[in-house]
Amino acid sequence: MAVLRWLFAGYGAAVFLFMASDARALQASAVSPAARPNILLVTIDTLRADHVGCYGYRRATTPTIDRLAGQGTVFTRAFSNTPWTTPSHYCFMTGALVSRHGSRDNLRNRTGVQGSVPVMISEVLRSAGYDTAAFVSGYPLLRRSGLAAGFSVYDDTMQDKLFGGTWKVERRAPQTADAFKRWWKARGAGAPWFVWVHFYDPHGPYTPLPEYANMFVDDGLGPRDEVLDAPGNEPKPPGWTKIAGERQDRQYYISQYDAEIRMADDGVKAIVSLLEQAAQLESTIIVVSADHGEYLGEHGRWFVHDDLYSQSLMIPMVFSGPGVPRGERSDAITESIDVAPTLLSLAGIAPPASMMGTKLFTGDGNVRRHARDLVLSESPRTNRCSVTGGSLQWIGTHPHTELHDYRHDPLRRRNLIGELAYESKMMRQFAGDAVSRARRPWTADNAPSPAPTQQTSPLNPKDRDALRSLGYIE
Ligand SMILES: [Zn+2]
Repeated sequence: MAVLRWLFAGYGAAVFLFMASDARALQASAVSPAARPNILLVTIDTLRADHVGCYGYRRATTPTIDRLAGQGTVFTRAFSNTPWTTPSHYCFMTGALVSRHGSRDNLRNRTGVQGSVPVMISEVLRSAGYDTAAFVSGYPLLRRSGLAAGFSVYDDTMQDKLFGGTWKVERRAPQTADAFKRWWKARGAGAPWFVWVHFYDPHGPYTPLPEYANMFVDDGLGPRDEVLDAPGNEPKPPGWTKIAGERQDRQYYISQYDAEIRMADDGVKAIVSLLEQAAQLESTIIVVSADHGEYLGEHGRWFVHDDLYSQSLMIPMVFSGPGVPRGERSDAITESIDVAPTLLSLAGIAPPASMMGTKLFTGDGNVRRHARDLVLSESPRTNRCSVTGGSLQWIGTHPHTELHDYRHDPLRRRNLIGELAYESKMMRQFAGDAVSRARRPWTADNAPSPAPTQQTSPLNPKDRDALRSLGYIE
């Protein structure tokens, strides 16, 4: 308990530090646009941190990400602010919690709070003279989601149907990397660029290309069953994610999930190679992260990410490039909303007031210590939220709440709510305070005016069919 109390005391200090440093950032003289670094944001859908090599995974799923990690900084305790694709990407783009940006489901636009809409990093960077482009690969990120705001190019071409589905719902990593390459070759030198590349491959159903499919089958290096098994497990996947063929055991499914991670990593490799050939790798800020994780059997859930337990929230977060310490591993707790303010501050641009995250590096090239001790994650579809700390996770569940040690008891066999009543109370209070803060208006004097947000139309039958094929609608 003493440790937790110290953590909470640290949170107060962190808030003070954030406010003070934010003020300094606003006063700092701007870097001239020509001198600003290029920025590459890569999000890999559904990528659990513990299936990434530099996070300890034994299979060679991510050689390229591991290489970037060696040249940069790995945040070993990074959490998603929501395990749902469109809302989570808004957390990356706006640096704001779901309760502030207001995108609460797939294909849903920002709504903001009290008439104000938080600005996206793409809008800020375009206003600052950046050439902006995005290449996305999954149906929930179609232009209609609103995520195209601020991007001069928004390539959302879907090329693949899945399992005889009616609609094209996905684009594979090689095609997405090719789309980036075409843009890259066509653009002239000049303005710095900001590119967001989204790979969708690890999202279910797991359908790796044939050259990847057998890469990890029966190699004995997958996660151990006893680590995954939870009370109530059913020994079969849900129907929408079923893989064709005889092999229907969990380890086979996991080998296919891992093969799709490798596909995405090879997509990153193709892009990194282009930068390297153009001698731009060292001068480009790169961040690789994920919108959420995945359950591989924990909590009785198979190949979905529909709730707030740690397996769906622990994501990789790897930075490299100018201003990022090399070869550093940090156990500072970080979250999706930290990415946008961190990228802006590395580019010498003050984050707008609507961003709630914390920049993760100091101006002299070090990792900020104890930037944050607790993370709020929201599941807007179920109206649940969780607070995750160094080892405890509190989940608000009507009519009761849960508290467990997710590091030592990842299957939550033991509810600690009774014996750690103080911690539970404080985490609940943190959740309430964070949501209140998110819903308060912010001072917008340093923020560019966001583009008008178009109204999101209701899902049409095609949308429902496409999202159902990806497991989003039952
Ligand atoms: Zn997703």
